[in-house]
Amino acid sequence: MTVMPRPSILSVEPYVGGESKVPGVNRIVKLSSNEGAFGPPPRAIDAISRMAEDAHRYPDGGATALREAIGRAHGLDPARIVCGNGSDEILALLILAYGGEGTELVMSAHGFLMYDLTGRWAGCRVIKVPEKDLAADVDGLLAAVGPRTRLLCLANPNNPTGALLPQSEVNRLRAGLRDDVLLVLDSAYAEYVDDPGYDPGVGLVDSGTNTVMTRTFSKIYGLGGMRLGWAYAPAGVADVLNRVRGPFNVNAAAMAAGIGALEEPGWVAKNVAHNAEWRRRLSDGLAGMGIKPWPSHGNFVLADFGSPQAAQAADVHLRSRGLIVRAMGAYGLPSCLRITIGTAEECTSVLDALADRPQHA
Ligand SMILES: *Cc1c(COP(=O)(O)O)cnc(C)c1O
Repeated sequence: MTVMPRPSILSVEPYVGGESKVPGVNRIVKLSSNEGAFGPPPRAIDAISRMAEDAHRYPDGGATALREAIGRAHGLDPARIVCGNGSDEILALLILAYGGEGTELVMSAHGFLMYDLTGRWAGCRVIKVPEKDLAADVDGLLAAVGPRTRLLCLANPNNPTGALLPQSEVNRLRAGLRDDVLLVLDSAYAEYVDDPGYDPGVGLVDSGTNTVMTRTFSKIYGLGGMRLGWAYAPAGVADVLNRVRGPFNVNAAAMAAGIGALEEPGWVAKNVAHNAEWRRRLSDGLAGMGIKPWPSHGNFVLADFGSPQAAQAADVHLRSRGLIVRAMGAYGLPSCLRITIGTAEECTSVLDALADRPQHA
């Protein structure tokens, strides 16, 4: 006999993040984790260094100043904002609180991997619904919902596909779900969306009791290493999150960094403009070489090389030049590589390297 976790835990594959090293190559360009092209905002860097001498103090467990800053920046009620150690933590807390043994979690086939991993941790049966052209299929999602379904998780835009579901489709999804199914709208890439009809989730959160929006400082704000995310939720769901989260789940440096990032003048606009330009240039460049770029609304492009062999060969070739992108086998897309939009120079290096890649018959 030995100690054993609940059976569902052993079906969880450890999450493998984007790599950051290539043996034997000194200069590395990391385009594997969608970390933002420009590093952290200068005001966030200042805030982190200034708080260092207070590192012996416990952080404000209520994250009051940070929630107020987020509320001001987004026009939201801070009482219904809950902060987390990355939005991954918020997603996990929601899935553990509303899911569990005997329940089902519904997601799109190529939805964000963490829903699957955490769903299994919670003991949910995770149902993956086939997509249409790598975009979530609302009719399919609704058809997959059964009496035991408690959660439906949708990233919009989605990572890794880049697909954006039109607002009318998101609204139709919510309208078609029972009231006891929590719709989790993961809007990690909201800032990059340029569709004027897009709502990252605020409208649906406000108009009901069963939709949550999650957001992150890891992408456009370049603070992935700080681990900071947040949810905007109906009062009942915010109350649940506040019961189950650790009392000091967000550390003091992360809170200071988040407040600093929100105060950085022009940061979002500068990043959005750069991203739109280089997402287009990268996509056009790939298409010009016969590599299919899936339309993306995030800070990355999913590039389809036509076969797993061709994708793997391109990955090996990029690595030999110190360019690390993300292989997509774990997402069930082995013919694809996901390339983060980096600086102009980094994107150009990727295109130049791919143009030089050995061609396979
Ligand atoms: C990066 C990402 C997250 C996680 O962000 P953290 O706040 O760093 O935990 C969540 N959802 C999607 C779709 C992402 O791409």
